[in-house]
Amino acid sequence: MESDSRPWQADREAIFERDNHACRYCDSDSGPDTDSSSCRVAAVGDVALEGTVHESALVTVCDDCFRTLHRSQDAVFDERTRLFETIRDVTRRQSDVISTVASFASLATQLPAAIEDGENDRATYVIARQDACLALAMVDATLDPLERAPAESDLEALAAGTADGTSDAVPNDGDEAGDDPPAETLSTALESFCTAARSLQRDLRKVVELSDGIAVGLGCCYGCFTGLEGADDPAVLDPDSSRQCPTCGLESPALEGWRDGDGDLAFDALYGAINDSLQASSKTTTALTARTQVVAECLFET
Ligand SMILES: [Zn+2]
Ligand SMILES: [Zn+2]
Repeated sequence: MESDSRPWQADREAIFERDNHACRYCDSDSGPDTDSSSCRVAAVGDVALEGTVHESALVTVCDDCFRTLHRSQDAVFDERTRLFETIRDVTRRQSDVISTVASFASLATQLPAAIEDGENDRATYVIARQDACLALAMVDATLDPLERAPAESDLEALAAGTADGTSDAVPNDGDEAGDDPPAETLSTALESFCTAARSLQRDLRKVVELSDGIAVGLGCCYGCFTGLEGADDPAVLDPDSSRQCPTCGLESPALEGWRDGDGDLAFDALYGAINDSLQASSKTTTALTARTQVVAECLFET
């Protein structure tokens, strides 16, 4: 199935309207009075494999963010500063994604109580989940070209400062060039950085997935948050069954492993797992900061 041929274009204006004609990622605003030519629609999160793409999987993004998401600008690391800017982009975007995912998780863990109080706000859930998925996708899109790393020899040339021919790109951090050589090569430092960044993505995706489980446990689709067919039927709570959402087409996961002895969804266990994954991600962030520093040393302290 060609994703490009998916029939979602008809809903463009409705998506722009919902998102106030502003980019959902960077907030850049084309204004409601201007035409929407600088706005694009992008699909985020899991998208059903067949049928029309539902609005719950579509967000407004600006041209720049759209290009980043779709990697139509392939990154070229022909200069040390450009390589380092990309690394800084990844770390900046990851600190953003941590708070976005944490907000979604916090909203999800409050769902059971909210629904009990009759405050089931579908739109807020959908928006929070979209933001988390979009933020994760933006990190992936920035990280991918770094992982398709430049050739070793090119990296060593960058580290030695012979590729761009300038040595005055060195940030003035007080250290004079000619100190002890860095303990790591640029390529191993870059690899360690990418490993830490990828590990953080996995922790955060786990948080989203566990939060999705709360929606499903409440009988709702984790994408569009409408009721799953037969949600009031006890058979639906069969831990081994997965069901397709009649509204958006997403396949809700089976929830085996999250049941207590009575077969009820163990919300407390889910909350605990969400907290664990969030804590793991904050540890990884510390490692990521350290690895960014090592890459900087390899790049600039030659
Ligand atoms: Zn943007
Ligand atoms: Zn759905």
